[in-house]
Amino acid sequence: MNAVIRPLSHSGRPNPGRQRSENPSQEHVEAAFRTVLHWIGEDPDRDGLRETPARVARAFQEYFCGYGQDPEQILQKTFEETDGYDEMVVLKGIPFQSHCEHHVAPIIGRAWVAYVPNARVVGISKLARVVEAYAKRLQIQERLTAQIANTIEHVLKPKGIGVVIKATHHCMTTRGINKQGADLVTSRMLGCFRENPMTRQEFLSMVHSNHDQ
Ligand SMILES: [Zn+2]
Repeated sequence: MNAVIRPLSHSGRPNPGRQRSENPSQEHVEAAFRTVLHWIGEDPDRDGLRETPARVARAFQEYFCGYGQDPEQILQKTFEETDGYDEMVVLKGIPFQSHCEHHVAPIIGRAWVAYVPNARVVGISKLARVVEAYAKRLQIQERLTAQIANTIEHVLKPKGIGVVIKATHHCMTTRGINKQGADLVTSRMLGCFRENPMTRQEFLSMVHSNHDQ
C-alpha cells in the first residue's frame, strides 16, 4: 500500500498554506523511522523489520488523524426541538487514546462530558467525536480537557459544561519513574457546573460511579 502522508498543522485543519514540496514525502518519513530502528541497535534490513517503517508511518497517520478534523465543524448540526429539555446531558466514560507531546508515548483514558443545554442539543456521538478529534493529536491532558470543554461551550453555548478526564500516561508507567496504576485526573467546569455546587456534584457522582464499575 502506498499511503500518502498528509501535511498536518497545529490549527487542526489540513494545512493549505504549505507548499507540497515542503512536506516530507512518504519516503522521507520511512527513512526517518529506519534511522531510529538502526539507532536502537536493530538491523532494519532483517525480514521482520523490512516493512516496519512503512507500517509505523501508517500507524502515525492513525494516531494523529485529529489534525485533519475540525471539532467545531463536528458540532455544527444541532437540534432545537427539545421540548424545553434543560437537564444535564452526560456521555460517560468515552474511551480514548492519545499521545503525550513530550515523549510521543500513549495516553490511555476515558472522558466524561456533560452539558446543560440552552435550547440546542447535539447528537450524542458528536461529543465522542470531539474527544477523538482532540485526542488524536500530540497532547497534554490539561489542554485536551480544556479544548473539549471550550469547543462545546463555543459552538453549543450551553448553560454549563463539565469535562473530566482520567488517563494513564505511558511515559510515566513504562519509563521514567515507572509508576503503574497512577491515573491523572483533570477537569474543566464552565457555567452552571462551575457556579452551582449541586450540578457539579451530580456530574461528579456519575463520574465516580462509572469509574468503579
Ligand atoms: Zn510524556
